[in-house]
Amino acid sequence: MSDEKKKNYNRKNVNAIKRFILVAFVVMFAIPVLLCVFLMVRMSQLDRKLDELAMKLEDGQSVASDSELRKDTNLKDLDEQAYENIEKNTTEEHGYLSNPESGTPTDAIEESEYNGKTVYLTFDDGPGENTQDILDILEEKNVKATFFVCYNADERYWPMYKRIVEGGHTIALHSYSHVYKTVYESLDSFKEDVTLIHDFVYEQTGVDAKIYRFPGGSSNTVSSVDMQELIGWLNEEGYTYYDWNALSGDAVNTVVASEELNENVLSYVRNNYGDSVVLMHDLGTLDNTVDGLSALIDTLKSEGYRLAPLDDGTTPVQHVKYKKDGQ
Ligand code: ZN
Repeated sequence: MSDEKKKNYNRKNVNAIKRFILVAFVVMFAIPVLLCVFLMVRMSQLDRKLDELAMKLEDGQSVASDSELRKDTNLKDLDEQAYENIEKNTTEEHGYLSNPESGTPTDAIEESEYNGKTVYLTFDDGPGENTQDILDILEEKNVKATFFVCYNADERYWPMYKRIVEGGHTIALHSYSHVYKTVYESLDSFKEDVTLIHDFVYEQTGVDAKIYRFPGGSSNTVSSVDMQELIGWLNEEGYTYYDWNALSGDAVNTVVASEELNENVLSYVRNNYGDSVVLMHDLGTLDNTVDGLSALIDTLKSEGYRLAPLDDGTTPVQHVKYKKDGQ
């Protein structure tokens, strides 16, 4: 081999080694770093999506599992537990199942005689786009209901808080943010959230609201904190929390026709042993709830149900009971 050829050969070798080092660098360092960056971005995107979904699903977690479970025996347990609680409480306190002293009878049953059972219509997550329409229908039908409100950052809806109260309805609390992650992060974050919505409602309406509904219900599976701790604190502060034993399922599937939503409510109400607390929503995206409300009220009245707002005297429907109060 001539010197020239040797030089060329060496240069080639050196170049090959350089290439190898470069490739090795890319493979061992740059690619993993890029991959990490990509995954981090993706993770934060998914995290955000998850939050949005949690918001959208809202009570969906419980509602969905409620509807799902209804098909098997688990929910029967849940429902039966709720019924048992109703039975236990009302019979202990009043000696009968339905409690006609609770709530203000807001509507003389025109079509039918009172059948002994009361239906409490409750609307969660407002105020929003549909709240005024719902208030109008309730007024037209002379029915009082309960609104579990959240904080709405859009000031256009702030007068609604007062309108709910002025309409004779019960204003109740359903968290400030409704973001599960924030509400249920710790006992402190829960306390802060409840206090914020309580004080906001007080500012808007002058009402010291003491009726509360957990986002996702007391049987939610999203809380990082033991629900017993949260319930214990609510009790200490004088709040009463209400879940539901009837629902339309409007938040689970937003495209269900109003007739079907009403049928869902009616089948729960008719099967309930005692009174019914009905979960619905006054979210702007759920127009079918508004569309069917008039017919739902008419049917309930015609079957002899009394419609009333929740108040201090209403026996709570609770999916999860406080264990420490010896009940
Ligand atoms: Zn909700």
